[in-house]
Amino acid sequence: MVAGVSYVGPDFDPPQPRRNRRRALTVAAAALVPGALLGWVMYEAVGGPGDGGASGNAAVRPSKAPADTGPTISATNDDKPPGPTPTPTADSGALKGKVVVVDPGHNPNNFQHTAEINRKVNIGTNWKECDTTGTSTNDGYTEAEFTLDVAHRLRTLLQKQGATVKFTQDGDRSWGPCVDERAEIGNKAHADAVVSIHADGASAGQRGFHVILPAKVNAGAANTGPIVTSSRALGERIAGSFVRATGSAPSNYVGDGTGLVTRKDLGGLNLSTVPKVFIECGNMRDTKDAAQLTSGAWRQKAARGISEGIVSFLRG
Ligand SMILES: [Zn+2]
Repeated sequence: MVAGVSYVGPDFDPPQPRRNRRRALTVAAAALVPGALLGWVMYEAVGGPGDGGASGNAAVRPSKAPADTGPTISATNDDKPPGPTPTPTADSGALKGKVVVVDPGHNPNNFQHTAEINRKVNIGTNWKECDTTGTSTNDGYTEAEFTLDVAHRLRTLLQKQGATVKFTQDGDRSWGPCVDERAEIGNKAHADAVVSIHADGASAGQRGFHVILPAKVNAGAANTGPIVTSSRALGERIAGSFVRATGSAPSNYVGDGTGLVTRKDLGGLNLSTVPKVFIECGNMRDTKDAAQLTSGAWRQKAARGISEGIVSFLRG
């Protein structure tokens, strides 16, 4: 999740991913300017970018340490294909010379550094917490652990295509980085694409993924004008391939079924000078979504969906 925004969306039964896959595909393929704009308008109408100060870190620290969450530990290797390493595809090397920055949302150690991550940083349009703890499933599988796992899988897939992959953090620092530094890492790397990986902390019954695109902002250090169009193209490719790879439907609570949401309140997007999107892979607080998010096999599909979207974007 990002910034502790609480969503209030339409209340209807989420579609079954398998049965409605064709529909979901169509929806994502049609994830276009009007639809996404509609989604954004709707989002703004139901509460806006509630920059709720301390609420950004309101996620309750899970009662269990990540190491106690059985499913996640045992699931890490359950997606390895049997037999020998697959033969490289004809596309191998397609991303040679391309730089992709992967931004695993939050940091597993943020829970121990509340004061540091609550420090406000300037995101151009306003001031916002340096970073947040993120959310977790009801069983205590943290978003920070999820984002790192998907990021590792994504890195492997992108490197197979020849890309140079850089992380903003790898659970190897005591907290953060702050959102402004996360943006700066992509900028300084002159990244061809940046994706920030998250999972949401919405209400039970709210399901599905959404990709967050930068709105056009020009305030202070934020000037997204040059990256709005390219970021949208990146986000549309990722949304489409995420549907195909995972069978997940676009969010049923934001984005009006497009799987795309435009926001102007995220420092990681506002301060980016290179094409960048966020993806909320699912809702950790919904038990059906959580069953997917805690599955290593599903996370591999998620990584593949994101990877294929990036490849598609970078190859034009
Ligand atoms: Zn998050």
